[in-house]
Formats: sequence, structure tokens, C-alpha cells
Amino acid sequence: MKVIETIAEMRQLRQQLTGPVGFVPTMGYLHEGHISLVRQARAESSSVVVSIFVNPTQFGPGEDFKSYPRDTQRDLAMLEPMTDIVFMPSTVEMYPDGFDSRVEVGSITERLEGASRPGHFSGVTIVVAKLFNIVQPTRAYFGQKDAQQAVVIRKMVADLNMNLEIVTLPTVREPDGLAMSSRNTYLNPGQRRAATVLYRSLKLAQEMWLQGESSTDEIRHKMTELIREEPLADIDYISIADAETLEELYTVRAKALVSMAVKFGSTRLIDNIVLE
Ligand code: AMP
Repeated sequence: MKVIETIAEMRQLRQQLTGPVGFVPTMGYLHEGHISLVRQARAESSSVVVSIFVNPTQFGPGEDFKSYPRDTQRDLAMLEPMTDIVFMPSTVEMYPDGFDSRVEVGSITERLEGASRPGHFSGVTIVVAKLFNIVQPTRAYFGQKDAQQAVVIRKMVADLNMNLEIVTLPTVREPDGLAMSSRNTYLNPGQRRAATVLYRSLKLAQEMWLQGESSTDEIRHKMTELIREEPLADIDYISIADAETLEELYTVRAKALVSMAVKFGSTRLIDNIVLE
């Protein structure tokens, strides 16, 4: 496994690769969710590239860029058995002095996470576009955990005719249902217990739908009631939207994305489920 820190070296190595290249962009502090993407990339590619870059442009002012957990040694040890190249650029390597470009995807970036975190997706699209240009993968792998991110990236790739395939893989969860996330490490034991309410509320939505409830108001109401039983949980939003356009639905139909952001103290967690 080669660990590369410069764009020039990454490009040079890329030119030597033959066959399909699988790429997994991450912000590090890896867990089984990331590893599931790397494993799939490994199974489908001749070469596997993983990037580790905590991207400052996707964090808003007052968000956790500075405190975002980092453990490069542990990340590299986890990747070693499955990865050919780890690309770990510095911030100035990616954003040198004078950097001043944007990639803006339209209305779908303004909803859900985009509404709560203005500018977030602009940071995501610019860094992912740059990484795609540098790594030139055949396929890039994203987690359903960040459902809107996957939709936005797909739209960017389609609209800009980027020459790669986007693969989205299921959310990996802890045994009690909590979606794995690097940010779970911020939770104290009480918050960690309370955080199971996200998945419980998503299961409640699924259960109601399976039993014939189609009013999104009714489902959202019951989810809200359940989450409010947890005094440590503070709801940012609960959305039931079309899984592709991300437009809010009045009536649940197949491929509805039920998604939410909930805060536990200063830790903001997201999760989702698709009803189909
Ligand atoms: P991050 O390091 O949080 O930027 O995540 C890197 C990639 O891993 C993104 O495509 C995420 O959607 C994906 N990912 C993060 N958590 C999970 C999870 N629990 N299950 C599946 N994929 C995940």
C-alpha cells in the first residue's frame, strides 16, 4: 500500500494503473461503514484508491472541522489489507493560495442537510470533483448513510458528464441500530444510549407504512413523539421526501426517503431509511 500526499504523485501513479480503479473518498477516522465501501471496491476493481481528507470547505463556521476526530495510523492499518493507494493531501495541496472555484449543483443541495448547513454541499461537490479529476476512478463508492450526498454526487456526475460510475452501498449499523459514524465518538454514554432513538424512529416509520399509513404528516408526528421521549435528543429536522428529487411528500410512495438530523448536546447525527 502506497501513501501519497501530493497531487502530482497521485497523478503519476494513476497513469501506471491498468484495469478498473475503485475509489472511496473519506474524511478518515474509519469504521466498518467505510470499510464496507473499500471491500466492495476491492471486489470490483484491479486497483483500490482511498482518500483521507478532512475537507474544510464542507464545514460551516462553528461546526466541528477543528475537533473532527483523526487517527491516521489506525486508518492506515485498517486499509492496509485491501488498499493499493491512500491519497492523503494537506489542505494547502487541495486549496492552494488563490483557489477560487465552485461546483454548484442546483435545488437538491438546498433541501434537508443543505437547508440546515448552508454551503455544505458546495464544499462537498468541489472536493469530490477535484478528487475525481485527480484519481480518475472507474467507480466511486458512497454510503447510503449520507443519502443526500450520494444523490448530489450522482447529479453532479450526470450533469457534468464525468466519466465514472457512482455506487451507493447500504448503511452499516451498530448492533443496536445506531448508524456508524466518525462523529459517534463525541457522544457520552448517556447520549450514546439516547442516540438509538434515530433508528427506532425510522423503524417506526417503516412499520407504519407497511401497515398502510400513507400520510407523511401522521408518520412524522409519531416519529417526533417518539424522539421527544428522549430528553437528550433535540430534533433538527425530520423529512419524508422523494428519494431522487428530495422534494417533500404529502403521501408516502415507494422510494420515499425518510431522513433526519438530531442533536445530542453539540453532536449532530443524521440517519435515513428508504421505504420501498
Ligand atoms: P465520511 O468519512 O464521513 O465523509 O464518509 C465517507 C464515506 O463513507 C461516505 O460515502 C459515507 O456515506 C460513507 N459512510 C459513512 N458512514 C457509513 C455507514 N455507517 N455505512 C455506510 N457508509 C458510510
